[in-house]
Amino acid sequence: MPESMSLSGRTQMVGVMGWPVEHSLSPQMHNAAFATLNMDWCYVPLHVYPDQVTTAVRGLAALGFRGANATIPHKQALLSCLDWIDPPAQAIGAANTLVIERSIEDQDSVRLSGYNTDSVGMLSALHAHNLIPGQNIHRVVVAGAGGAARAVVWGLIEAGVTEIVLLNRDLPRAQTLAAELAPTLCRPLSFSTDALVESVRSADLLINTTPVGMWPHCENSIWPDSTPLPSNLAVFDLVYNPLETRLLAQTRQAGALPVDGLEMLVHQGALSFKLWTGQDAPLDVMRSACLQSLR
Ligand code: NAP
Repeated sequence: MPESMSLSGRTQMVGVMGWPVEHSLSPQMHNAAFATLNMDWCYVPLHVYPDQVTTAVRGLAALGFRGANATIPHKQALLSCLDWIDPPAQAIGAANTLVIERSIEDQDSVRLSGYNTDSVGMLSALHAHNLIPGQNIHRVVVAGAGGAARAVVWGLIEAGVTEIVLLNRDLPRAQTLAAELAPTLCRPLSFSTDALVESVRSADLLINTTPVGMWPHCENSIWPDSTPLPSNLAVFDLVYNPLETRLLAQTRQAGALPVDGLEMLVHQGALSFKLWTGQDAPLDVMRSACLQSLR
């Protein structure tokens, strides 16, 4: 908790539900934003087991929370607990932001709304590196088919990419994602090193949406050491802790373009912040807070 923060009965609470949740930088990021804007709000990490999402969401509403983020692996499960789902989150099939609203007339009347801010965050991160889907990015390989991958695939298709190869260990999960989001443009394949190496040959961009390489297993990478990455490839790793994952170090060594997960984290967080508070988020403050925590 920042030194300047003091909690009282009036403090507005938000948090992030995850399993694990220790890696999340969202508490530091949002609390720095609240402190800068002199807001009596507090953001806490919430360790929620996979079969407890509905109970946890009901508990947050009962405790007077204003909302929460959902991170790995709860983004799909959150959808089933909601009264209302924003159309992009409905289309994506996953929500990363819960907004808990109370009616002014009847404080017992609670509405649980779900949004997905990941796809906008993903596109902001790509744009920051001059990677524009539909303009200079046409063919993309996506590793993983979980909640984040759904937002990534949906955002890429909306932005106009022409081909996505979707690699996942659990092939039926990738097949379901492709069938639901982009049956003609998205080709699901079983994840293997050979399939990955073969797929990126004709791709402009590789996006890792798996947690492989995330702290504390920083030595892991989806890419094999035996084969250099193509130097004309851009590689976007959604993992942001550590900032330079092993995959991104391999990318840099190959002379290819690495994109880390920080900018997406900051932009998706800024949208959640606006949904809860109605205020514009201080992007620079949030970015600095994340960098400071990572150091
Ligand atoms: P999720 O719903 O649990 O999905 C995880 C995906 O990764 C699944 O498709 C899973 O495959 C795959 N996977 C897990 N371990 C693997 C392994 N050892 N080898 C190959 N594939 C593996 O999680 P999520 O919510 O999508 O999050 C995924 C990652 O993205 C996390 O690291 C999260 O922190 C990061 N993320 C970052 C941002 C950001 O703002 N930068 C935003 C969202 C997410 P199976 O289906 O076969 O199990």
